[in-house]
Amino acid sequence: MISVNEALAHIEHNIQESAAIAAKLQDAYGCVLASDIHSPIHMPPFRQSAMDGYAMKLTDTNTYRVVGEVSAGASENIVLNNTEAVRIFTGGRVPDDATTVVMQEDTIKNANQIEITKTPSVGANVRPLGEQLKMGSVALKKGTVLNEARLGFLAGLGIEEVNVFHRPTVHILITGNELKQAGQTLKEGEVYDSNSVTLRFAVQKEGITDITVHHIPDTLEDTIQTISNSIKQADIVLISGGISVGDYDFVESALEADNVNPHFYKVNQKPGKPLWFGTNKSTVVFALPGNPASSLTCFYVYVLPAIRLMMGKHPVHLKRKYARADTDIVNVFSKTLFLKAIVKDDIATPLTGQASSMLKSFALANALLIVPESTSRIRAGEELEYITLRE
Ligand code: AMP
Ligand code: MG
Repeated sequence: MISVNEALAHIEHNIQESAAIAAKLQDAYGCVLASDIHSPIHMPPFRQSAMDGYAMKLTDTNTYRVVGEVSAGASENIVLNNTEAVRIFTGGRVPDDATTVVMQEDTIKNANQIEITKTPSVGANVRPLGEQLKMGSVALKKGTVLNEARLGFLAGLGIEEVNVFHRPTVHILITGNELKQAGQTLKEGEVYDSNSVTLRFAVQKEGITDITVHHIPDTLEDTIQTISNSIKQADIVLISGGISVGDYDFVESALEADNVNPHFYKVNQKPGKPLWFGTNKSTVVFALPGNPASSLTCFYVYVLPAIRLMMGKHPVHLKRKYARADTDIVNVFSKTLFLKAIVKDDIATPLTGQASSMLKSFALANALLIVPESTSRIRAGEELEYITLRE
């Protein structure tokens, strides 16, 4: 059995960044840039009016003759002398001869004359060429996760394709003859599957879209066959259950039969001890314990960093912080404990119902407290580290 940190080191050591691919902007939400993006244009691409008003070369006079109009999108460059102005609208191209735009509200119009009632400084309300971004300068850096603001920003630069890390394809394989889906009727001895749901959404939250769920019956042949298919099709295979020591736990034998190279099995932690990690060429395989809280804990601590490493995303781990325990916490197991808790105002309250079968405390928690394997007691008021679950 290895420690939490040893397990994390194995994952870091055995996972590579995915290949870079070209993606259309509309397909790139949640992807990570694989190279810096340089702006193909100046932004704004011309001297642009920031206001509705009048553009002129501002001199000592307050009165100008209006000789034309520039609406947004009009490309003509109207020539002006020192006593002439143009009517201009927000986003309009400021004539080369004009230095300044006077807000409409600061003028009085009389036939084709305007009088300025409040004189702005020279250059006011004119967005200079390339004010936001010069052509060729870095718009977004490698490693940036593409969200709505960033994709909009790139679209505004006229960019339609980006170089991003390939997003892993994920297969979630749930094992267990006892599992039914919500909506079906439970017979005595059956339970509803929750792991495929927690895992699917946890994966989806990382920006992955290609996620498939398969249910494997508890036979060795089915387990071998399904895992074998998934290894061929997916970049990441997450198996839920069947990895303990029971007579119907076929996952370890199946992984062996499918030639998945094992890197570790069993971590000195609670919950989530029977965690298995291996690779088959570039496919990454995690066999997660079936108990719902164990499975989700292992996802947050191990699978999520693996996904982020593949996607070129930083930081790799969920954020860790410190809080003070509001009660004594005892660790009689000599294992690392991950305790579902609520942290508020830097005070950590462990929740009741820490059993590995219980998801209720996870549903309420915003933190996983970390009690190291070497710590047997944390006293009320002492600081401890925690993993943030809701950032
Ligand atoms: P196993 O690791 O297969 O022995 O499963 C351990 C426990 O977790 C058993 O009580 C299973 O019924 C339960 N379990 C396994 N898979 C799931 C799942 N997908 N959803 C909810 N509970 C599960
Ligand atoms: Mg089972």
